[in-house]
Amino acid sequence: MRTTIIYDNTVFRNDLHADWGFSALVEAHGKRILFDTGGSGSILLSNMEKLGIDPNGIEDVFISHYHFDHTGGLSAFLDQNNAVRVWVPSSFRGVKNAKEVIEVDNSVKLYEGIHSTGELERVEQSLCIETQKGVVVIAGCSHPKMAHIMSAASEFGKVYGIIGGLHGNSPESLGNVDFICATHCTQYIPEIKSLFPDAYVEGGAGKVIEI
Ligand SMILES: [Zn+2]
Ligand SMILES: [Zn+2]
Repeated sequence: MRTTIIYDNTVFRNDLHADWGFSALVEAHGKRILFDTGGSGSILLSNMEKLGIDPNGIEDVFISHYHFDHTGGLSAFLDQNNAVRVWVPSSFRGVKNAKEVIEVDNSVKLYEGIHSTGELERVEQSLCIETQKGVVVIAGCSHPKMAHIMSAASEFGKVYGIIGGLHGNSPESLGNVDFICATHCTQYIPEIKSLFPDAYVEGGAGKVIEI
């Protein structure tokens, strides 16, 4: 699988725009999924353009939770390409102008090897990708407790790694993962780095992660 961070609080590539929010392109099992959309449509679309990501090459949009820094770019994206399936947690209402909107409550298989944890704690779903190394979790802010996300993700196999925002979660709650790209709203980055020196990698818009 390949994950390209499009939108983040920090930049990995200096030609991109940093802004509070998160979005990533997840390519796996022959699918290209836009995970969240950041806070601003214009920043999302301009970072995508600089990264060479064509909005029209995307067939699925996965929204982790309703917070504006994850959904603010959605309508601008849909203005470019509305022939997409949008997977939303059922607490997030009001997506218009898309080919199909799928409200997610319980865990669900999107495609072979690609799953949602389901909407946990009535707020957020995470995307789970099966890889040769184990399951990789892509999380928006991780508002549900990390233990809850990890146990939901392990339904699909042993969890290998996590990519995304880990807001409010203690480093210890990450348990036994081998790969951590903790970015966006993560509060304990120095502690995570020191507890997981081999697993931790830097995030930021423009970062490409191949697993
Ligand atoms: Zn956030
Ligand atoms: Zn949030």
